[in-house]
Amino acid sequence: MMNVPKLFGSLTFNERVMKDRLPAKTFATFRKMVEEGLPLTRELADMMAYAMKDWALENGCTHFTHWFQPMTGITAEKHDSFIAPAADGRVIMDFSGKDLIQGEPDASSFPSGGLRATFEARGYTAWDPTSYAFIKDGCLYIPTAFCSYTGDVLDKKTPLLRSITVLSEAAKRLLAILGTPTEKVITNVGPEQEYFLVDKAMWEKRKDLVFTGRTLFGARPPKGQEMEDHYFGAIKPRVKAFMEELNEELWKLGIPAKTEHNEVAPAQHELAPVYTTVNLACDYNQLTMEFMKRIALKHNMVCLLHEKPFAGVNGSGKHNNWSLSTLEGKNLLDPGTDVYHNNQFLLFLAAIIKGVDEYQDALRGTVASAGNDHRLGANEAPPAIVSIFLGTELTGVLEAIAAGEEYKPHGHIQMKISGNTVPALSKDNTDRNRTSPFAFTGNKFEFRMVGAQASLACPNAYLNTIVAEELEWVAERMEGTNQEEMDKAVKNLVKEIYLAHKRIVFNGNGYTDEWVKEAERRGLYNNKSTPEALACMCSKKNVDLVVKHGIFTKTEVLSRCEIQYELYNKTLNIEALTMLDMLYKDLLPASKAYLKDLGAVALSENELGLQPDTALFKKLQKATVAMYKDGEMLAKELGKAEQIEDQKKASALYHDKVLPAMESLRRSGDAVEALLGKNYLPYPTYGELLFGINN
Ligand code: ADP
Ligand code: MG
Repeated sequence: MMNVPKLFGSLTFNERVMKDRLPAKTFATFRKMVEEGLPLTRELADMMAYAMKDWALENGCTHFTHWFQPMTGITAEKHDSFIAPAADGRVIMDFSGKDLIQGEPDASSFPSGGLRATFEARGYTAWDPTSYAFIKDGCLYIPTAFCSYTGDVLDKKTPLLRSITVLSEAAKRLLAILGTPTEKVITNVGPEQEYFLVDKAMWEKRKDLVFTGRTLFGARPPKGQEMEDHYFGAIKPRVKAFMEELNEELWKLGIPAKTEHNEVAPAQHELAPVYTTVNLACDYNQLTMEFMKRIALKHNMVCLLHEKPFAGVNGSGKHNNWSLSTLEGKNLLDPGTDVYHNNQFLLFLAAIIKGVDEYQDALRGTVASAGNDHRLGANEAPPAIVSIFLGTELTGVLEAIAAGEEYKPHGHIQMKISGNTVPALSKDNTDRNRTSPFAFTGNKFEFRMVGAQASLACPNAYLNTIVAEELEWVAERMEGTNQEEMDKAVKNLVKEIYLAHKRIVFNGNGYTDEWVKEAERRGLYNNKSTPEALACMCSKKNVDLVVKHGIFTKTEVLSRCEIQYELYNKTLNIEALTMLDMLYKDLLPASKAYLKDLGAVALSENELGLQPDTALFKKLQKATVAMYKDGEMLAKELGKAEQIEDQKKASALYHDKVLPAMESLRRSGDAVEALLGKNYLPYPTYGELLFGINN
């Protein structure tokens, strides 16, 4: 029997381990330093390093690594052993404070968007003491931030860390004005991670899955997700075994994996951890994705984290549940029982509404990627239009305030299920709306646009900064209000903000065409593609915001946009090349082989004096010619896009020309596939992939 409490966090250098291994005074100093963001002294670093090394060696480690999150979106590591030569030809195991706090990986091949010339390739990693060190594969992992020799930020983590402080300061300022000061405000995130599992032997046969993480061809199977029999369905034993092993590994790392279930699409699943501070949530999510992939392989499956691995069935996202709490644990997004009189909640809510409206395009930009473009707006995921769902009650409160009326709370509605045997459930104050990109869900906001494979860092860094900006704005306005005037001043300000920004509030069905039209009428952005979203993201307004709050320098943000354009172009380039490869190496030969056999049958029918049956031959021949032509067209468009050096310009071509050519080729390829005999198709079909795990 697994002892979960004992297992949990057994591979992390958490506070319990620190307490056991450090002198009480050192531990107290360390905690104070982390909580107050004070600089680390060399002496403290040495003591921490010593304790960490001891703990790591006892747990079988031979190596250590600075673990960082470069702009590739995944994590990076470079292992060093602890050994240091001793005078007598032997070695000792050495790890100093300096090794702990600073590393110098060769950084020349990480994307920097032109920030760092390769001749000045030096990059530095600096220990992030707010995230726990952990052990993986006999190595001590030290979470770090990554920057260049000149101090330019080269990773995803640093901006997130900065935004946490900026937001805390802004929220503290407002709380102090409201007469409820606190030491620190914490950002919490609980990400729900969606993913697909497919059989490994089948996966290996599909170049598209291997090279791009998504299928580029594939005729619709007779059955998709229309029966809705997979959602919350019984979990198959092989998947269950995977989930159990995944949980165990995550728990060892102190990752609070909590909820798991089948999702809407066949072969799709979800894992949600218990929420934690956003910095840890971000690290944990990276590890979760890594372990999902690794453990799936052990069960002869492959975990697909792409946002849209299969056309025609739902894609995968990462719902980012976000909230703010004080150091004392009070959730600042908890409306309480009497929202109308909850000044603190109302002001925070108003600030968020204002921020999401003013920076909707920046938020959209933070989730832009080639993969996510297939998901957002595909009538299964939130649309590419950012809007806020508040639910009936909160909207009612804000409408009443805007009209200058008193709001009467309805209280909790009791739902009775059956007689008296089943206890009455209290109905959530917020009815659920699955179609909203940014939904208030009781005591948190759920930002649902984040892509399944994306890092949590960028969306949260921006969300935090946007909210900080608005809280400061609100604080500025509220400064100097005396307590007797407070209620009135709050209502006035909330009214002003709500009336100016209520266009961003939408409680209806976000999947409909009517909403697209309505949103346009309201003047909301609808940036459907990554190039459009990125163009807005680096607009002056959005650059000014992050520069003002010290999250990035102007050069840093612009270089990040450059990296995103480049990533988009590279992704489409690889996808197009993979399609052409599959066309020439798989689909065309398969079709020709079938045509040859069909032709031979027709000839022998003729020889036997029968009327040859050439209907299928003709149909397939025609479809094959069309497919070939589409392939040629794609090759031509791709050739043109490849010529363009400027990444932004190239992205327009990839989006406007290459992508439609890929879609045409897909359509004609799928038409060919649908006609092919089973033995001719060199790779597994959608039906086999999606319904392939049955035991
Ligand atoms: P859903 O019903 O939306 O699918 P889940 O249980 O799958 O809900 O996931 C909800 C996520 O929200 C979990 O990760 C949970 O820990 C997180 N969560 C709950 N409360 C908060 C909060 N106050 N702040 C941030 N995240 C929260
Ligand atoms: Mg969920």
